[in-house]
Amino acid sequence: MVFYNFLTHRKEKFKPIKSGQVGFYTCGPTVYDYVHIGNLRTYIFEDVLRRSLEFAGYKVKHVTNITDIDDKIIRRSEELKMNFKELGRKYAKLFFDDLKSLNIERAGVYPRATGYIKEMLILIDRLDKKGYAYKGEDGSVYFRISKFKKYGKLSELKKREIKTGARVSADEYNKEEAQDFVLWKARKPEEPFWPSPYGEGRPGWHIECSAMSMKNLGEHFDIHAGAVDLLFPHHENEIAQSEAATGKKFVNFFLEGEHLLVDGQKMSKSLKNIYRLADLVERGIDPLAFRYLVLSSHYRAQLNFTWESLNAASSAMRNLRVALSKISAQSAGRNAGTAPSRQLAGKYEKSFKEAIDDDLGVPAALSLLWQVIGEEKLGSGDKLALILKFDKVFGLRLKESAAASRKISQEVRKFVAEREELRAHKQFIQADGLRKKIEQLGYTVEDSPSGPIIIKKI
Ligand code: AMP
Ligand code: ZN
Repeated sequence: MVFYNFLTHRKEKFKPIKSGQVGFYTCGPTVYDYVHIGNLRTYIFEDVLRRSLEFAGYKVKHVTNITDIDDKIIRRSEELKMNFKELGRKYAKLFFDDLKSLNIERAGVYPRATGYIKEMLILIDRLDKKGYAYKGEDGSVYFRISKFKKYGKLSELKKREIKTGARVSADEYNKEEAQDFVLWKARKPEEPFWPSPYGEGRPGWHIECSAMSMKNLGEHFDIHAGAVDLLFPHHENEIAQSEAATGKKFVNFFLEGEHLLVDGQKMSKSLKNIYRLADLVERGIDPLAFRYLVLSSHYRAQLNFTWESLNAASSAMRNLRVALSKISAQSAGRNAGTAPSRQLAGKYEKSFKEAIDDDLGVPAALSLLWQVIGEEKLGSGDKLALILKFDKVFGLRLKESAAASRKISQEVRKFVAEREELRAHKQFIQADGLRKKIEQLGYTVEDSPSGPIIIKKI
């Protein structure tokens, strides 16, 4: 497999540290508010990355953190007069609900920052002993970036100004210039705090991810992912803290997904141009249609969100399910296809793997899916098997669609047959009444030239 590695700024052949296994860390949500579909684009990209690694035969240890203490959480909990732990629990639950709706596989571990304070303090102590940490006059502890010579390689910082000795204690992004960043923030009145050798306080945002990733995956692991806004300063700072403390290389591959835009601007809470998954569902959009939309563009290309493109993705999902019901019905009870069909299936599978292995060429893989669907030289059994294999990477729940279409109850079948009778006699109003009954039972009917196709609504 080949990935674009932000550490080297080029495509590189992927080789895991331990044969057959991949240690994979993704920066998860800061649980102070709802996640929006921009965040979800990143989580879908990371899910596809993980599925692709699994498709290639690797065993993936996937860790996604939950940031449950930082500036934003504290501010919001003050605004809402809600305890920060309660706030975190609420939004973490909603985050997990969205993952489920989008068929994003669960990570093996979801460490929460507040559960790793001890590990963070150990890391800060190691940095302190090596002269990378110092206490500022405000009582907070900072990382001395001038001592870490590799600082800025990931985000190509030479283009930016480095203000050594100037400090930034906010967790929020500071994209203009690099400054010594905070490791441990001195306690402020009314804020949550923990005891430490540096005085009472709480961790800075960056140290959280270094501590949680290294505790769960070891000091040197394979892949770290996020979206491009995390390159600087977050991932840059993670590398600095981790490598300065351990003296080892932190991560081999950094993969960063591009943003979801609205009218050419990044979708973000601060710009107030966000949609939640629930907003899409409210408009009758299936979450998997949003997943399809995300799959249709490469993860390193920006994706401009429009309702038109989302509606087109919804139609594509419907067409996919219709095609699948047909293929599934045709293949029922059939044995394996002929030798030429199997051979052709093998060729398609090879092309699919090549597309995915080339820095996650998911749009190319999707177009192969449609080619397979329309391929007349493939037997229906081979076709179905191939589609379901591809879906291990896409994650569009096509297996469930195929299975659901096969398990249609007698009652639904009877209504569909009656509706056909009515339509044949041009009794369209009554036929429509039956369509509604069928829909109430959880199915939709698509009229095709070869007769009605029944699809289970998901
Ligand atoms: P946050 O909760 O702000 O820390 O963001 C969670 C994840 O979503 C991070 O990996 C961000 O880089 C990513 N993210 C934030 N905004 C967008 C966006 N508009 N498009 C894609 N990813 C985003
Ligand atoms: Zn992180």
